[in-house]
Amino acid sequence: MALIVQKFGGSSVADAKRVMNVANIVSNTYKAGNDVVVVVSAQGDTTDDLIEKAKEINPSAPKREMDQLLAAGEEISIALLAMALESLGCPAISLLGWQAGFNTNSVYGSARIKNIKPNRLQAELAKRNIVIVAGFQGVNRYDDITTLGRGGSDTSAVAIAAALHADKCQIFTDVEGVYTADPRKVEGAKKLKEITYDEMLELATLGAQVLNNRSVEMAKKYSVELEVLSSLNPVPGTIVKEVTKMEKMLIRGVTKDTDVALVSILGVNDNPGVAFKIFDKLSAKNINVDIILQSFGRNNTKDVVFSVSRENGPVAAELLKDLSVLEGAKIHCDTNVAKVSVVGAGMESHPGTATKMFEALYDTGINIKMISTSEIKISVIIAADEADRAVSAVHKAFIPND
Ligand code: ADP
Ligand code: ASP
Ligand code: MG
Repeated sequence: MALIVQKFGGSSVADAKRVMNVANIVSNTYKAGNDVVVVVSAQGDTTDDLIEKAKEINPSAPKREMDQLLAAGEEISIALLAMALESLGCPAISLLGWQAGFNTNSVYGSARIKNIKPNRLQAELAKRNIVIVAGFQGVNRYDDITTLGRGGSDTSAVAIAAALHADKCQIFTDVEGVYTADPRKVEGAKKLKEITYDEMLELATLGAQVLNNRSVEMAKKYSVELEVLSSLNPVPGTIVKEVTKMEKMLIRGVTKDTDVALVSILGVNDNPGVAFKIFDKLSAKNINVDIILQSFGRNNTKDVVFSVSRENGPVAAELLKDLSVLEGAKIHCDTNVAKVSVVGAGMESHPGTATKMFEALYDTGINIKMISTSEIKISVIIAADEADRAVSAVHKAFIPND
């Protein structure tokens, strides 16, 4: 019939009961006559627990060894699921990333998939086996285990769907689909029937962890149709695909991202080349800059403020202290900030969108530190402890309760 890739996240396989529940879903798909490849994450909080274990021993452990350690989480899940399927009378075989042909680059901790050699996967499917693949991991050219970064199992699933030209890629999780905001945190969040790749990519990049952003990028590139759905409640989920006739809703979602730091450089000499030197120094150290604000020059000085990931904030501030063109400027890093965004294709043709967002924040007494807009999103940087209130207020303004 069809070739279906099914991915189950950590909470879906958290304990023996949940593993059996997943085995039943997979078994039903298989017994309906489909070929099935399953991708699983580590059980529950296993990955976090392994990170804690490492920290107790060496807080700055080599990244290669971290990958070796973290890959163990998924190794446990695949074997348990294979055993569960066996108990239901389904032939199943579990494969680690390297056994499934996942070749990656060598950036330990956030490796990128270079290619998938699908021979083994295809051979097992040809034997009518259910193939269970460890998500989040691959192997590099030194035969070392690598991991794809947090939430990377989504990308593993999409990559397999693309490599095997699967008919469908289903991402099973602990909520019923993609919502207009995190349904665990925002009252009145609504499930979306459909969302475009571009909108989903923005939501994922701006903090909606329900799908990993790289997985969405890859799904768009290879036209893999994704469905996000619940492993606990068998109701239709959300389809992620190219633009079609969508529900009439201008705003798709509101997100928050707390992995943000603001670096401000005050009193910079107002000369040509300063911006170049600042950002050249950061890019040389692979520091990704998100929003940049430069004030209008006055009295021969100007201010430059930019946002980076929380981890990179202090690193960037330290690096810039050595820059000679910044002599005399005050450099400060604030890690107590968050980014709140509204996402929706079509907002460019609706001039009132930004005003509505700012009004909702004003009514809630929240001060905006920085603003950034694109065709498809508006983001503001605000104090971290106000982020949840901001998301709720902005969500209410755009997506009122029925
Ligand atoms: P998994 O372990 O299945 O990969 P994750 O924890 O990575 O699951 O992602 C699912 C979680 O994403 C949900 O429990 C939900 O709290 C959170 N989430 C954040 N934003 C959204 C959103 N817009 N729609 C749905 N879920 C969201
Ligand atoms: N187990 C990994 C993590 O917790 C990968 C994943 O869940 O997708 O990040
Ligand atoms: Mg996830």
